[in-house]
Amino acid sequence: MPLSDEQLEIQALARQFAAAELAPRSAKWDEARALDEGVFGELAELGFLGMLVPEEFGGLDFDVLTYLVVLEELARGDAAVALAVAIHNGPVAGMVARHGSEEQKSAWLPRLASGEALGAFALSESGAGSDPSALETRAEEGGDGWALTGEKRWVTNGARAGLAIVMARMEAGAIGAFLVDPAQDGYSAHGGEKTMGLRASQTVSVSLADAHGDPLGRPDRGLAYALSALDTGRVGIAAQAVGIAQAAMEHATRYAMEREQFGRHLADFGAIQAKLAEMLRQILGARALTYGAGEVLQASRSGATSREGPDGLTARAAVAKLAASEAATWVADEAVQIFGGYGYMRDYPVEKLLRDAKGTEIYEGTSEILRLVIAREVLRDAQAG
Ligand SMILES: Cc1cc2nc3c(=O)[nH]c(=O)nc-3n(C[C@H](O)[C@H](O)[C@H](O)COP(=O)(O)OP(=O)(O)OC[C@H]3O[C@@H](n4cnc5c(N)ncnc54)[C@H](O)[C@@H]3O)c2cc1C
Repeated sequence: MPLSDEQLEIQALARQFAAAELAPRSAKWDEARALDEGVFGELAELGFLGMLVPEEFGGLDFDVLTYLVVLEELARGDAAVALAVAIHNGPVAGMVARHGSEEQKSAWLPRLASGEALGAFALSESGAGSDPSALETRAEEGGDGWALTGEKRWVTNGARAGLAIVMARMEAGAIGAFLVDPAQDGYSAHGGEKTMGLRASQTVSVSLADAHGDPLGRPDRGLAYALSALDTGRVGIAAQAVGIAQAAMEHATRYAMEREQFGRHLADFGAIQAKLAEMLRQILGARALTYGAGEVLQASRSGATSREGPDGLTARAAVAKLAASEAATWVADEAVQIFGGYGYMRDYPVEKLLRDAKGTEIYEGTSEILRLVIAREVLRDAQAG
């Protein structure tokens, strides 16, 4: 799918930013297990925190493909930054824009787009990961509105968030989605996880103790909203994974052209060439699936396509994320192999890329769950036909 001149310009801007501001700091952030928070101001200045927010609320209102191109470039520079940006723009701003009342949109979208409030999406709990319908966080309606109590797990951006969307179970049993302002006493983030990769990403637990929550859309539809927000999220994670894979291939290619063994460059050996060829094949395949899912997402935003069936958004987003995340892990693993002993050392970037890539196979739906989702959509179609 050729990019338009405008998309190419934005891609060049994101690429330049990632190369100048993210890639040189990425290893340091990984060691520190923290980003320099100033990076969010830089992202906001570029408009990258309001990519899917309508212009009337201060966003750039990018088409989906432009959004994906930017995410890929950010991930080439630093995957933790790309994850923070993907969750903020995708599930969080996306859910407010899609399901929020006019009042909620006016209150939150300009703050999200300007970076004044970063977004977190709190669905998972210790006992409810792949099966979010098992979540136990409670939402009770009283004289002061809705009060949320429970413990959320692995919340990306959870400690820096200016807005958290929290899924919680109401008395009647249905699950609602609630806008929660983390500045209140009832919200506390703790226990920064010591993750294998994406170490600079903020992965925290969030305790809610009678926290005020503002219901988003219909209070009994929260789980459905969250799952459909994950369709958007998964296309973004696919782009993140393509960016990681692209970075790994570039590092491996440069190294293969520099390193000599047996009096020749590694790049002269057929076995190494075969690895590079397979890397490109996997990356191009993953990117094509990601862009293709992006087209379906674009159509579904205007209501022009169904979410169901093998060509619907749910299946296409799951296929893109599955293919791209597994490609990223494979490519990064082979990049480590091309670097040999040096690849296994922290001093070189590829071992980090392998650790980062593995995460993309887990969050926003594990590979096993994505296969279940895809099969369900294939069978749904066959049964209907
Ligand atoms: C870095 C990181 C960031 C995250 N960020 C967020 C976030 O911002 N917000 C949020 O809400 N969550 C977040 N998560 C949580 C993530 O979404 C869950 O970890 C994920 O959904 C898997 O849930 P689980 O860890 O409980 O694994 P489990 O559900 O316990 O699964 C364990 C294993 O069993 C497999 N499995 C489970 N059920 C089935 C089945 N029916 N058939 C076949 N296999 C199955 C899984 O695929 C997996 O391999 C994050 C996780 C990580 C690692």
